[in-house]
Amino acid sequence: MNYAHPYQDAEFVLRHIVDLDGLCEQAGLDVNMDLAVAVLDEAGKMGAEVLAPLNRVGDLNPAKLGANGVEASPGFTEAYQQFAEAGWLSLSVVEAFGGQNLPNVLSTAVNEIWHSANMAYALCPMLSQGAMESIGHHASEDLQATYLPKVASGEWTGTMNLTEPDAGSDLAAIKSKAVPKGDHYLISGQKIFITWGDHQMTPNIVHLVLARLPDAPPGVKGISLFIVPKFVLNADGEPGERNSAFALSLEHKMGIHGSPTCVMEFNEAVGYIVGEPNKGLAYMFTMMNHARQAVGLQGLSISERAYQQAKQYAKERLQGTRRDGSRIPIIQHPDVRRMLMTMKSGIEAMRALALTAAAEIDRARYATDDASQAQHEARVELLTPIVKGWLTEMSQELTSLGIQVYGGMGYIEETGVAQHYRDARILTIYEGTTGIQALDFIGRKTLVDKGEALAVLLQEMQATLAMVKAQAGLDAAIATNLAQALHAGNEAREWILANAAQDANLAGTASVSFLMLFGYLTGGWLLAKGALQAQQSLAAGEGDKDFLQAKLISAKFYSEQLLPRTAAYLAAIKAGSDSTMSMPEDQF
Ligand SMILES: Cc1cc2nc3c(=O)[nH]c(=O)nc-3n(C[C@H](O)[C@H](O)[C@H](O)COP(=O)(O)OP(=O)(O)OC[C@H]3O[C@@H](n4cnc5c(N)ncnc54)[C@H](O)[C@@H]3O)c2cc1C
Repeated sequence: MNYAHPYQDAEFVLRHIVDLDGLCEQAGLDVNMDLAVAVLDEAGKMGAEVLAPLNRVGDLNPAKLGANGVEASPGFTEAYQQFAEAGWLSLSVVEAFGGQNLPNVLSTAVNEIWHSANMAYALCPMLSQGAMESIGHHASEDLQATYLPKVASGEWTGTMNLTEPDAGSDLAAIKSKAVPKGDHYLISGQKIFITWGDHQMTPNIVHLVLARLPDAPPGVKGISLFIVPKFVLNADGEPGERNSAFALSLEHKMGIHGSPTCVMEFNEAVGYIVGEPNKGLAYMFTMMNHARQAVGLQGLSISERAYQQAKQYAKERLQGTRRDGSRIPIIQHPDVRRMLMTMKSGIEAMRALALTAAAEIDRARYATDDASQAQHEARVELLTPIVKGWLTEMSQELTSLGIQVYGGMGYIEETGVAQHYRDARILTIYEGTTGIQALDFIGRKTLVDKGEALAVLLQEMQATLAMVKAQAGLDAAIATNLAQALHAGNEAREWILANAAQDANLAGTASVSFLMLFGYLTGGWLLAKGALQAQQSLAAGEGDKDFLQAKLISAKFYSEQLLPRTAAYLAAIKAGSDSTMSMPEDQF
């Protein structure tokens, strides 16, 4: 089953929700919606024609560990070369390093295509983007000049080596060592679960590795970040001697089979420190917003792919007979409609949120005064755990619904829908589990600033609600349901602020409900904004009438069927921690 890029919705969000033209004008970027549409069009072709056909190939033929290291799934190397030659890796990299300096929100919209087409493959460029972020923000000018252009051009790829057997969610427990030697360090230790940790698609790989210096203080304040190339560079900057950084084995996984997940062994490997000693974890945090939003985006992408298959099947599969003897395509059964509408409206909310959050990164970066920079940075901080946590949790439900629409054929691997469900399962785990996102959201992002950033967001939602209420012709259900969900959001915020200090377990037990409540609410707010715009365009006789009317129906369905979940989350939050924590451990 092939993939087609959902241009119209991406374009609608970029134009009307994100206001890409306004953002680029303010940022002084020579980019506008016409260019964005052209870029998405080209990416759509690459995704549909080159990457999507390899999705199942990778699932059936996982990467292997051979005598020379990891061998990618068939066809991946050729696809990677085509991808790199077309310049797709450098979209939002600055021109000084060979990039195209496009806004982050546009490269995010493009990344949706890669992950929908072939998530296992797309993890490789995603990790390169992560590595470029860390090097670009924190490495010395020399290291930047040496490594960034090569990764930006796709000539080399990047990896992130954080996790160790004893250090997963708790990175403070990292044990890998870095010993200074002349102008470099010798890095030793084992890293596990390293995505695309080895391959032969490019002549070099740039590993970013967290490790401790010999005199480092214990815990989070003693971790440094290093660049460890697979091949140490010669004086001319080209790959020379093989560094002692090897993939020992590959994990056998539930999904993303085309993405090699490596146990990496570093044995006195030559490495170069990024920035200052002992600041590695702080550096990782600065790029975490980017990486976490990227994984949230994967949740959208894989749900979109599952939806495309499900709607096609629902139109073709005949079950049930009408009085006249004709058979009924299952898309006409109300319960199948419920599933497809949940997928469609959920995906539209997820896309609106993913792109809104991505644009906030641009708005913070290009802000012209300190106050506006601080405001956009706070919004990025607030939205990031929601994008990562809520979008990936949604992808579990939506890819599962994809299987349900197929009935028994969904459980059979040949149809390919089961792969989306299996592939999606990792998303709530890596780059910080849902539990970790939720703790970040309720703790660092809410309790620490006494709910200030959240209050500003809620006020913006209130302003949208007033406009939605006042808009002639808009279905009243959208405003009524948004008002109720907004009430739940306000009450949850106030209740947590008022009660968290009295109960040490409260924030922890309520955190995922708190995050999910704000996920549904933020999605509903953005769909209501979209409905407002759609209604205004229809009234003005502008745009594609069928598409705009569909946006109104999606927003109404979401407000009636998904927004009420916020009330259930509020009730769960207000129930407190007692029943969660009072069970004696020996009763588990
Ligand atoms: C396919 C795959 C690819 C990956 N790619 C990479 C990669 O490229 N680079 C890399 O460095 N790592 C990578 N990882 C590792 C990934 O980031 C970790 O698996 C993840 O951070 C969770 O760590 P853990 O597996 O040790 O689980 P644990 O930390 O042991 O967590 C187990 C459970 O306990 C919960 N938990 C843990 N601590 C807390 C807490 N303080 N409060 C509440 N709940 C808690 C978690 O939410 C989870 O439900 C990858 C993993 C996989 C499976």
